[in-house]
Amino acid sequence: MADIIQLLPDSVANQIAAGEVIQRPASVVKELVENAIDAGATQIKVNIKDAGRTLIQIIDNGCGMSDTDARMAFERHATSKIRTASDIFAISTMGFRGEALASVAAIAEVELRTKEHDQELGTFIHISGSSIITQEPVRCDNGTNFQIKNLFFNVPARRKFLKSNPAELKHIINEIQRIALANPEISISLHHNGSAIYELSGTNKRVRIVSMFGKNINQNLIPLDTDTSVVKITGFIGQPKHAKRTFGEQFFFVNKRYMKHPFFNKAVMQSFEKILPPDSFPSYFIYFDLDPADIDVNIHPTKTEIKFENESAIWQILQASIREALGKFNIVPSIDFDQAGSLDIPMPLHHFGDVKAPEIKVDPTYNPFETSSSSKSYSGSGGNSSSRPIERPGLTNWQSLYKGLEPNFDEKPEKQEDEPVQFRMEEQQTTKNSVQFKNKYILTPVKSGLMVIDQKRAHERILYERLMLVLENNEVASQQQLFPETFELNASDATLLTSILPELHALGFDIRDFGKNSFIINGTPGVLNTSSPIEVIESLLEEYKNSPANLQEKARETVAISLAQASAIPYGQTLKPGEINELIDNLFACQTPNFSPKGKKILSIMPLDDFEKLLK
Ligand code: ADP
Ligand code: MG
Repeated sequence: MADIIQLLPDSVANQIAAGEVIQRPASVVKELVENAIDAGATQIKVNIKDAGRTLIQIIDNGCGMSDTDARMAFERHATSKIRTASDIFAISTMGFRGEALASVAAIAEVELRTKEHDQELGTFIHISGSSIITQEPVRCDNGTNFQIKNLFFNVPARRKFLKSNPAELKHIINEIQRIALANPEISISLHHNGSAIYELSGTNKRVRIVSMFGKNINQNLIPLDTDTSVVKITGFIGQPKHAKRTFGEQFFFVNKRYMKHPFFNKAVMQSFEKILPPDSFPSYFIYFDLDPADIDVNIHPTKTEIKFENESAIWQILQASIREALGKFNIVPSIDFDQAGSLDIPMPLHHFGDVKAPEIKVDPTYNPFETSSSSKSYSGSGGNSSSRPIERPGLTNWQSLYKGLEPNFDEKPEKQEDEPVQFRMEEQQTTKNSVQFKNKYILTPVKSGLMVIDQKRAHERILYERLMLVLENNEVASQQQLFPETFELNASDATLLTSILPELHALGFDIRDFGKNSFIINGTPGVLNTSSPIEVIESLLEEYKNSPANLQEKARETVAISLAQASAIPYGQTLKPGEINELIDNLFACQTPNFSPKGKKILSIMPLDDFEKLLK
């Protein structure tokens, strides 16, 4: 039989290797900017066109390359950063496997202009799909200028796999964000299609954070500073009261490199325990510096997880450092949330006589929307908004659930059929005996037992269906702000907001881009009746960022979902009896009362039998 094994041609081998290193335009940006940092650059400019599809240009003022090195740099395993295997245990540069440039050259057109500082002339190299097209001397600036064009031109599968331009640009911004935070002393700019996203001059950590996340963050930063023989910890944690509804501004760096570390993240979250509002996440920018020999660098270059030798010691030091910082700022745990504000159902502890129904006093004449103009109502149907009661044929008879439900526990419960619960209302009347529990759930007796409703998810569902109705019917109703408010976002949030402005307009937001990452809100959707539109926009962006990427393609729906989540009554908010009833009414007027827009269970029924069993 003939021999069939062959060595792969270099160009093919490089293309395969490229699949690992270069997944998307952002990977190219990361690799090339890291190379520039390793080359000692103090100024790095990044210019992007079409989210990196057509052009990624990185210009640095680093050491540059000789003409031989410039050619060598594109060979696989070509690196100036390690010479012996033992070097990799003491590595302090970003790259060391010598794969990035070979990979990029295999799947794009690369033009390189580079010059060492003591040379008269530099080198120009043009490579396409791993083959050198030109190499010649050139007049150019000190340092290195890479232009990567037509990324993935010869890998159609990869090209197809790319997301929308805003999504790819977002990845690029994320990479630059991490690198810029890790290296505040380096000047970095990022331009997309000619307009500036970042123009950051070299500075310290605090100023860098503020110039990236807006000046509002400044007074919110609590410094960390702990130096031990194991590790040095510096950076900042955010004040608990400014914690976000979803994680976003959480960054760990180790030896000037961004890392993800779920275990240390847990340590941070634990240190904040009891001082954070429920369901919120603190911001942090935490920098670890330690001997490179104590971390495992022998991992894939694109991976952001890092292993530490002294993980549990560092955990302790990290927590101590955070607690000390919080202590200095006089932030102490507040009283247990559970003890305040929750409504206890009056219940006789020992009684062997007559069983009486729990009594909840309800004022039948009470109308929560008549009097309390000062108190904040969760409702979307109150106020002067244009919303109207939602009438859906066939959906107004959910109350049969409650029919025959006299709170008379002396009686033996009638036998329950085991049929799936149908939420239909027979007549329009509200139940007066629902209560809020732990400021999170609504408990309401139904025929077959006790129904538990998640208050936030229920309200998300209600708002979501209203918003979708606005979209379907094209009935934009905007509530004009008395005092238009301006706000500033960090660059990546600003890009994101700009990309979803059309959807927000369709929903009734009147927001205008003012340039320089600032915006003005003139109006909000009528169905929301919100008093703090900027907060809603901020949480909307957080929710949107955390939506799965495939959902983000369906922008309108995703924006509606995110908006519903951002403006729903939060956990921890006490509801008045009238509000509880209105929430239940509105929930069961929905088409899908059982599930939140993200598909989570809104309600469940604890069957009477279970109560019987409990007390056996
Ligand atoms: P690695 O960074 O792992 O060494 P790369 O493929 O990213 O591998 O780069 C190969 C080599 O090219 C580097 O080791 C370095 O010597 C050189 N190089 C790459 N980018 C630059 C740059 N911007 N300035 C100077 N030298 C560079
Ligand atoms: Mg590299």
